[in-house]
Amino acid sequence: MSEEGKERSLNFIEEIVERDLENSIHAGRVLTRFPPEPNGYLHIGHAKSICLNFGLARKYGGGTNLRFDDTNPVTEDTEYVDSIKNDVKWLGFDWVNEFYASDYFDELYAFARQLIRDGLAYVDDSTSEEMALLKGTPAVPGKDSPYRSRTVEENMDLFERMAAGEFPEGSRVLRAKIDMASSNMLMRDPIIYRIKFAEHHRTGDKWKVYPMYDFAHGQSDSIEHITHSICTLEFVSHRELYDWFIAKLGIFPSKQYEFARLNMTYTVMSKRKLLQLVNEKHVSGWDDPRMPTISGMRRRGYTPKSIRDFAERIGVQKRDNLIDVSLLEFFVREDLNRVAIRVMAVFEPLKVVITNWPEDKTEVCRVENNPEDPESGYREINFGKEIYIEAGDFMEEPPAKYFRLKPGGAVRLKGAYIIQCDEVIKADDGRITELRCSYIENSKSGEDVSGMKVKGVIHWVNAAEAAEAEVRLYDRLFKAENPAAEEGDFKDFINENSLTVVKALVEPSLLKASPENKYQFIRNGYFVADPDSQPPHKLIFNKTVGLKDSWK
Ligand code: ATP
Ligand code: MG
Repeated sequence: MSEEGKERSLNFIEEIVERDLENSIHAGRVLTRFPPEPNGYLHIGHAKSICLNFGLARKYGGGTNLRFDDTNPVTEDTEYVDSIKNDVKWLGFDWVNEFYASDYFDELYAFARQLIRDGLAYVDDSTSEEMALLKGTPAVPGKDSPYRSRTVEENMDLFERMAAGEFPEGSRVLRAKIDMASSNMLMRDPIIYRIKFAEHHRTGDKWKVYPMYDFAHGQSDSIEHITHSICTLEFVSHRELYDWFIAKLGIFPSKQYEFARLNMTYTVMSKRKLLQLVNEKHVSGWDDPRMPTISGMRRRGYTPKSIRDFAERIGVQKRDNLIDVSLLEFFVREDLNRVAIRVMAVFEPLKVVITNWPEDKTEVCRVENNPEDPESGYREINFGKEIYIEAGDFMEEPPAKYFRLKPGGAVRLKGAYIIQCDEVIKADDGRITELRCSYIENSKSGEDVSGMKVKGVIHWVNAAEAAEAEVRLYDRLFKAENPAAEEGDFKDFINENSLTVVKALVEPSLLKASPENKYQFIRNGYFVADPDSQPPHKLIFNKTVGLKDSWK
């Protein structure tokens, strides 16, 4: 058992796995699968499922298959397949096999014929309206379709001709013959195959009939000898059907277990809705840093570890719930605190001239890259006669206990000297344009023998070499805590002010910032270089998260 596993009690799925291992079910083997439908990019909910499936296999010495559930030819695309593989790897997981449900079309077709042969499936020519009418309601038993009593031979002939493309779309379906009075509506002769003349992204135009989800999913699990097939709660009522197909076909007994979907505040979590945001250009793409997609979070500067830690912390629930996004941000902050290089960036520059500093002198200051990580070392930054500080770090008429810069007051410049404000220069309109300060000799950080005590430390950049950067500040994409649960269209709750673009002056070390490099802009927050950034010509940073923890 891993170290992580020892710290907390088992979740209910781990209990099931351990019980199965004790009873030597499946000869002590654990094989899980992650089965995305390649019809969109993965989001944080999928990340939860990935961490669960791959995490279980890792913990119990098993493996995980990546299976693309590509049985619906209409919505799927290889762009999505590639992004999904990328995202799973980025999260830190490896699959033992890459499979496609479409690889099983031949076997699934054979399974359907087997059911027909055993008198357990029939071709129905009813329209969908007629079928719906006969289906009944949870309180009222359904009625048999007039086609339910077709002979095996007739069913076999019709199904083969459906597959050969002889009938138009929607004219006939193949249904399992189960129980039109079942209390489980899904057991009232569910459709298992439909006619579709669509080009499939892998099988082309070979097939004119496609299996329904319920007929493909469990059998795919069984074909792969999946031991624990974990899915979300909306499939609880499908379990009976899952077991029925496996039992009637007499194939490997995979078992389905359900857990609660992850929902998070201030976002939406369905691929269909996320696709709308992309198509209607509310965001710049699937990887927009405001999106709850894995690629969006990556571009935002989230780390794989922070997402894995979040998934571990929220655990596995049996009831639907809404998780506060600030919990995720908490783990992001925690991991970035460990790994991010501390740098200086000034957002509202106020010029400071050090009057007693020699005209052309520059002096090297050594600053720690990351005090949380002794191995990260130091870097050198130049101090000179003109610098910029944050306009907000100066107050002409400060309140008591103001420890930043004020007229006649002193403050330490991070990694450099203590300076004292001697004179405030203003434009005609009264705006402060410049501060004239003097530095205190012998007060350099690390070698300070000035004997002067100052309480405030502020950040700065050297005017001679500061670089300009575009900084993208993000707020929540939605104004409502749970936009999907609100009345009306979820898009009515989009926060129009979720992106603000500002300029900043940054220290020259950032001219080397490659996309995805992570930084703490000290006293401000965590930032990441955007893929649009072209150092050293064009610098673009995304704000990942602020320094302060708002999670209670
Ligand atoms: P969506 O509703 O967002 O389109 P989906 O369930 O249709 O999601 P799939 O590609 O079918 O997406 O899902 C792949 C796997 O990820 C499934 O096992 C599914 O249960 C799981 N999954 C999807 N969304 C969530 C979520 N919000 N929380 C936990 N697991 C999820
Ligand atoms: Mg799905």
